Amino acid sequence: MSSLQDRSRQFLWHPCTQMKHLEAQPPLAIVRGEGPWLIDEAGKRYLDAISSWWVNLFGHANPRINAAITDQLSKIEHVMLAGCTHEPVVQLSERLARLAGLGHAFYGSDGAAATEIALKMSFHFWRNRGKPGKCNFISLQNGYHGETVGALSVTDVALFKDQYAPLLRQSAQMPSPDFRLAEAGETAEAFALRCADALEAHLQQHADSIAAFILEPLVQGAAGMAMYSPAYLARARELCTRYGVHLIADEIAVGFGRTGTLFACEQAGVKADFMCLSKGISGGYLPLSCVLTTDEVYAAFYADETARGFLHSHSYTGNPLACRAALAVLDIFEADGVLEANRKKAETFGALLEPIRHHPRVRHFRNRGMIWAFDVAGAAPGFARAFAEGALAQGVLLRPIGAAVYFMPPYVMEEAHMEQMARATQTLLDTID
Ligand SMILES: *Cc1c(COP(=O)(O)O)cnc(C)c1O
Repeated sequence: MSSLQDRSRQFLWHPCTQMKHLEAQPPLAIVRGEGPWLIDEAGKRYLDAISSWWVNLFGHANPRINAAITDQLSKIEHVMLAGCTHEPVVQLSERLARLAGLGHAFYGSDGAAATEIALKMSFHFWRNRGKPGKCNFISLQNGYHGETVGALSVTDVALFKDQYAPLLRQSAQMPSPDFRLAEAGETAEAFALRCADALEAHLQQHADSIAAFILEPLVQGAAGMAMYSPAYLARARELCTRYGVHLIADEIAVGFGRTGTLFACEQAGVKADFMCLSKGISGGYLPLSCVLTTDEVYAAFYADETARGFLHSHSYTGNPLACRAALAVLDIFEADGVLEANRKKAETFGALLEPIRHHPRVRHFRNRGMIWAFDVAGAAPGFARAFAEGALAQGVLLRPIGAAVYFMPPYVMEEAHMEQMARATQTLLDTID
């Protein structure tokens, strides 16, 4: 273990980690990044095949994003957003409004904060409209919306949630349209609609006490990249409208091109009442999250009375450096025709993964946009960690979720990178139990 790894174990508490496991698997000590590469103390290069926990879009140390942040740094690094405003946050809000069709942007720093904001805003909307009894939330089975106490209440991942159960608000989970759960011979769409029927049955009974339904559109990331038919989203939108319940689209992981369209909701022609954004929004550079909402929601808070307003705040709300990074990201999307270029990259990578799709241990091979995943049959209990370790030895950073192996590469990956990921995976499937 190097000195940096050792000091890290002594003085840091790493996220989502049993610290004792670091005795056997010390953290990668990264000193530099370059495009899709992470470079450690010894100069060894690792392909960042999961975009540093799904945040990076255009590579590390991207010159254009670097330039935008550097430029902003010499103007104003930060100013509070209560009673002050600035060009980067206004411009970003204008552009997001045009892109998402939701005209009011409230900012936070992390994804979980965006979830909290959306939940509180939805509840407060109904209260301002004379329906204070609408104070419950529903979400999808195996859904993930962050790990602060409010967000964890609508998250449904036992490993993250069970220890904290006594702290959490009750929320009901609707059947997940994850197509792996479909019956033999049932299409993803038919299964999605069957799940939507269960949603309707729940709404019929409980809509009076429900403020909002929160879901991850098209791909449930932390569930192991569970994918489902857009038909579910379209139907959920109809049902939420019919039963007077807000739809919160948590696009924290799937937004910004991840599923092939700028926002995943577009694939179902759906506009949510709230859209939560984070992760890729700043290209993986700086913590920034945003909740976009409708004129209708905004109007319910607009009054002379202070307490009718949304009196929520975070110190770093709308940080100018983070907003400049986000603006640079949107510029790159436009200037480089990223969505179109990604379609070609996805085709190439898909073709390279064909042998893996047909590997005898691979089940439910799936892809949407720039996310690929499959489940591994006969995975031993320590599979995820052993696979991750084996991948590092081959210069690829991968972190399976249980028996689900996935790729969520930065959009700057080229064919040689794809070949390396495919090759490493093939070897690991043949050697890791
Ligand atoms: C990562 C994630 C969050 C939480 O974001 P943090 O920035 O980690 O708090 C919420 N929802 C989804 C869908 C996510 O993938």
